[in-house]
Amino acid sequence: MGRIVSGSTIGILGGGQLGKMLADAARDMGYRTMVLDPSPEGCAKLSCDEYLAFSYGDEAALRKMAEVCDVITYEFENVPSETIDRLVEMSAYVPQGKRPLHITQHRMREKGAVNNLGIKTTQYEEVLSAGDLKTAIEKIGYPAILKTSTGGYDGKGQWVIRDEAALEKVARELKEGEYILERMVKFQCELSCLAVRSTDGSTAVFPVGENIHKNGILHLTIVPSRVEDEVKKRAEETALKIIEGLDFVGPLAIEFFLGEDGELYVNEMAPRPHNSTHYTMDGCNKSQFYLHIEAICGMKLETPKLIRNSVMLNILGEDVPRIEGMQLDSEAILHMYGKTEAKTGRKMGHINLIGDDLEKLIIKAEEI
Ligand code: AMP
Repeated sequence: MGRIVSGSTIGILGGGQLGKMLADAARDMGYRTMVLDPSPEGCAKLSCDEYLAFSYGDEAALRKMAEVCDVITYEFENVPSETIDRLVEMSAYVPQGKRPLHITQHRMREKGAVNNLGIKTTQYEEVLSAGDLKTAIEKIGYPAILKTSTGGYDGKGQWVIRDEAALEKVARELKEGEYILERMVKFQCELSCLAVRSTDGSTAVFPVGENIHKNGILHLTIVPSRVEDEVKKRAEETALKIIEGLDFVGPLAIEFFLGEDGELYVNEMAPRPHNSTHYTMDGCNKSQFYLHIEAICGMKLETPKLIRNSVMLNILGEDVPRIEGMQLDSEAILHMYGKTEAKTGRKMGHINLIGDDLEKLIIKAEEI
């Protein structure tokens, strides 16, 4: 398949905020968009040309997408892989295929794929029962963290196990399912890096972000990250090695721990735009959403440039009343997602603070 030119229609599976911002970028670049999402009120409805509120298995909706869209992508890693199979059977063009979803939907598969490329993750063991958990902790030791292998996000579905009492409690309460036990990494900081690969084979990588979480949810992303240049280079090279090694196209966000030992450990990956890369909308000459579109449309990618130091601040449900009453200056750029229900912990928008003095930007973000 050659280039998908402007005027064509891009199908997006998933209609949350990432779908909205992807549709905004697509429109800027002259494309039409059709979004499929089971929710009748996904944020992308505000920005796409056609919004289909049907399940990911709805035959008529998939047929419509296959017929109308020149290329189809996803903004959500938990789209069922059967959806992609069905679209491909209907002759739709889905250049990323289902493999990135299949690998990243399951923490065991994800870590295995990374280790197969000779790249480090923390030590881990599969856990399918309370008995497995006890055997795994003997190998891994305390402290460890138990996670559901599928479906967890923003720190949900995770139990930190620091001692035998915690182990007994978690073992007693363990529900049937698939889990992974990970050794807790003693880290200096958390970093992330988003690589993109086009269907023409060209690649690009965004500057590494330094991520600060609050209550398991991303709070700030600081760019440039305050680590040695050598570490940044290593993270960028690792991101490119993974996207090429796994032979993915489209975006791939990679979260790392920078260990106290100086090693980079891959924590998790997402084959879609990423919250920690929202700073690119104002801090780089091209955003992650532009590069996502360029990649699936077969354009030649170039690594974007950071044009201003940036701090991205997430706005959660509980922050909305405060933000609404605030007068932001021209170097604090607000992006709201148009969600009507401002629940506690729900991502409602973000602010990109841009400027010259990074430490001042961090203080400014903390004062908002
Ligand atoms: P995750 O859902 O895997 O991104 O985990 C959410 C957060 O929990 C991470 O951003 C870390 O702050 C923390 N965390 C998860 N796994 C580990 C680990 N193996 N070692 C240390 N901290 C972890």
